[in-house]
Amino acid sequence: MVKKTVKKAAAKPAAKKTVKKTAVKKAVLKKPAKYIYSFGAGRAEGNGKMKELLGGKGANLAEMAGLLKLPVPPGFTITTEVCTYYWNHDRSYPKTLKADVEANLKKIERETKKVFGSEKNPLLVSVRSGARASMPGMMETILNIGLTEETIPGMIAKTGDARFVYDAYRRLIMMYSDVVMEKAAGIEPKDGEGIRKILDGMLGDLKAKLGVTDDTHIPAEELKKLCAEFKKTVKKVLKKDFPDNPMEQLWGAIGAVFASWNGKRAIAYRNIENIPHDWGTAVNVQTMVFGNMGDTSATGVAFTRNPGNGDSHFYGEYLINAQGEDVVAGIRTPSPMNKWSANAHSAHLPTLEKVMPKVYKELDAIQKKLEKHFHDMLDIEFTIEDQKLWMLQCRVGKRNGTAAVQMALDMVKERLISKEEAVLRVTPAQLGELLLPAIDPKAEAGVKPIAQGLPAGPGGACGEIVFNSADAIKLQETGKKAILVREETNPEDIEGMRAAAGILTQRGGMTSHAALVARGWGKCCIVGCGELEINLEAKTVSMGGKTFKEGDSLTLNGTKGYVYDGALKMLAAGEGNKNLMHFLALCDKVRTLKVRANADTEEDAINARKFGAEGIGLFRIEHMFYGKNSEKPLFILRKMILSGNEAERKAAVEELFPYMKKEIKATMKAMAGYGVTVRLMDPPLHEFVPTLPEKQAELAKALGITMAVFKERAAGLHEVNPMMGHRGIRLGVTYPEITEMQSRAIFESAAELIKEGVKAEPEVMIPLTCDVNEIITQKKLIRAAYDEVVAKTKVKKLHFSVGTMIEIPRAAVLAYEVAQEADFFSFGTNDLTQMTFGFSRDDIGSFLPEYLKQGILEADPFQTLDQRGVGMLIEHAVTEGRDAKPNLKVGICGEHGGDPASVEFCHREGFTYVSCSAFRVPIARLAAAQAAAKDVLAYKRK
Ligand code: PEP
Ligand code: MG
Repeated sequence: MVKKTVKKAAAKPAAKKTVKKTAVKKAVLKKPAKYIYSFGAGRAEGNGKMKELLGGKGANLAEMAGLLKLPVPPGFTITTEVCTYYWNHDRSYPKTLKADVEANLKKIERETKKVFGSEKNPLLVSVRSGARASMPGMMETILNIGLTEETIPGMIAKTGDARFVYDAYRRLIMMYSDVVMEKAAGIEPKDGEGIRKILDGMLGDLKAKLGVTDDTHIPAEELKKLCAEFKKTVKKVLKKDFPDNPMEQLWGAIGAVFASWNGKRAIAYRNIENIPHDWGTAVNVQTMVFGNMGDTSATGVAFTRNPGNGDSHFYGEYLINAQGEDVVAGIRTPSPMNKWSANAHSAHLPTLEKVMPKVYKELDAIQKKLEKHFHDMLDIEFTIEDQKLWMLQCRVGKRNGTAAVQMALDMVKERLISKEEAVLRVTPAQLGELLLPAIDPKAEAGVKPIAQGLPAGPGGACGEIVFNSADAIKLQETGKKAILVREETNPEDIEGMRAAAGILTQRGGMTSHAALVARGWGKCCIVGCGELEINLEAKTVSMGGKTFKEGDSLTLNGTKGYVYDGALKMLAAGEGNKNLMHFLALCDKVRTLKVRANADTEEDAINARKFGAEGIGLFRIEHMFYGKNSEKPLFILRKMILSGNEAERKAAVEELFPYMKKEIKATMKAMAGYGVTVRLMDPPLHEFVPTLPEKQAELAKALGITMAVFKERAAGLHEVNPMMGHRGIRLGVTYPEITEMQSRAIFESAAELIKEGVKAEPEVMIPLTCDVNEIITQKKLIRAAYDEVVAKTKVKKLHFSVGTMIEIPRAAVLAYEVAQEADFFSFGTNDLTQMTFGFSRDDIGSFLPEYLKQGILEADPFQTLDQRGVGMLIEHAVTEGRDAKPNLKVGICGEHGGDPASVEFCHREGFTYVSCSAFRVPIARLAAAQAAAKDVLAYKRK
């Protein structure tokens, strides 16, 4: 009986109470709010650090103008606080804003020596949005504000170019009527009937009538007439006059930009990118400079390095005689900045370096200065007005995974950034791009998914539909790729899952069997795709209104959970990628957290080492009963499970021993020198009872029992709640011979390896503990097995440790007691999440999507650790565990061990290691390095 055998673990002494200090409220005299920051001509009121207030664009314009003294057209930024005010006060402005705007306009007028609204010498401005985080194309921009029937003659007189002025005017009418008079006014036209579309159509008709393809070839007179027609159309469609008053235009534009913060596009983008909705946008009002003033003018977009591959040469495109929108809109093919920027479409076009060598040289010097200043690759917008260069914007440039890694490595070499900064330059998703086969983004952009499930195994896969394992294997043998479509997967599907390029199931959650196994193999997998209707007899599956038969092609995006009809173009995984290896080595220099792998076979262990795992944090013994060469041991295991008495069971256990030892020894050998945590058998035994009649008959025969007896024994194993049933350490408590045999297999493996000169130090892990007394009973069995092996093999110095998984809340709560009997804790966060939430890890598909949609939960807690709830239990357990045993080793081996946010949490909580599927080891190495880098950089800043 347990009671007699266990000694009592000491209770924790009472903690000292700490007294909280109460804060003293101080009366503070509030400084009046400053709503506008001006910049230009070598000065700025703001700076690059003020992104919260000035938005990214405004802050960087201030930095370029003020600190770096670059040629920035003078202007001012209205802060994000005004946007918040505008939305909180029924779309109105703070009282002082009007006077502030006017005063700042005067400042610009003084610097440019032009006057807003002047008939002789008019100043034109642009009005642009700019939030804290870049939201490309999601908000509005209006150019050429201030151009009216009255100011047009002055502009023509100044520039001597009527065509240019009317071109600017028609652009203003188009943008203003669309952005201010339609969108900001809340008018929602039918598709294709918006004012912009109508005016675009009129412009197109005019070009056709004149027989020209390029806007720049429309003569001034025609443009003038077009502007008049535009205004008539605006009045007809929107029932309002286009405002021919500069101030009215300016305020209309400012309001429209603030309004666009809550436009549909912007809201949707923020939801996807997790940008808070209460940040608001700033508004930048800036002197217009013109790239469309003839052949000595141009406009362009450039990057200080190539964002597609990370090449360190200046890279970009420009258009002669154009305004910024033309480059983005893709109306004309832009020309390359220099020879490094040429592509198949632009190689024949003249480079800026050739066409305007002086300006190019100046721009090149500026981009170098900017990179040196910002220590990152920048995305630059510029305009050349009659050979004079103006900088309109700079921001940290977006890049793909390959480029991010290349740039991070290069910049360390160039001593532009530290290694801590370098590891923060590559996001886990970017690193992931380099590790998996993926759908070509260009191909994916052009099609819509036909179904969506949970993104269980990342990467892409494309292949022919099969409905069972055998067919997946057959297809693979013919050299073709299979997409295995199942209602759910079970252990009998393992070979087929291995053979398939991708897996798609109707049921299951993120930690369901299929998801777990697929991730472990780095295989693309979508689970819980509820809309699948599978007909196994007819071998068809219906989704998205279409029925597919066996052999039809599907493409899966396992990163997003999307299913596509047909075969999309794929990109190969980045195997043998030297940059990737160098970058991960850099991560290893920065991180303090160790990274282990969850691996269950020799092959997995070899793979894990390739990915840089420093040991195995979870070897699930029972996985030897799935997959390759599992037929025989599975058969014996089944005999063990269905045996009728102790003698039968013990015989089966002994029969199993050599198989178990072989697997453990091979894995330990592959991990020579690194720790291997072998977890004792965990799942409920009934999971292994065969379901196929022929397998059942075979087993009954081997056991010498009738089918009726077989069925009776199998029924006896049935459990209502198997996940909370006879599994984990409970198996060892009821069948001590199972623990004893597994321990012997572990120690004999280690002893033999030591004799062969291989370093081996096994760590035995007890699963699903809820009470320290369970550990005490199991340790006795483990110790006895150890003594027996040492006596038999006479091996010296066979060191081992015994630890436990913490996956039941009670064990976490009583961690002080548990730690007294455990050498290490490994948090099994799959079960710990399941039991803390009371959500079955296999059955969340029917309600979790709704929880996420309604915002009840922020994320799937089986994917990313619930730091508030489950995390609090973990924090408590680590603290209590280390109070009992200060050098307690602490790790995590649930699926969260490969999730970047969860890895950061583990770093903060002082874990010794994280353990995850081999394919996620690189991501965990990066996440661990990023967590450590943040600490170092925060310390340096202090
Ligand atoms: C866990 O529960 O987190 C764990 C690693 O164990 P398993 O997934 O095998 O239950
Ligand atoms: Mg578990």
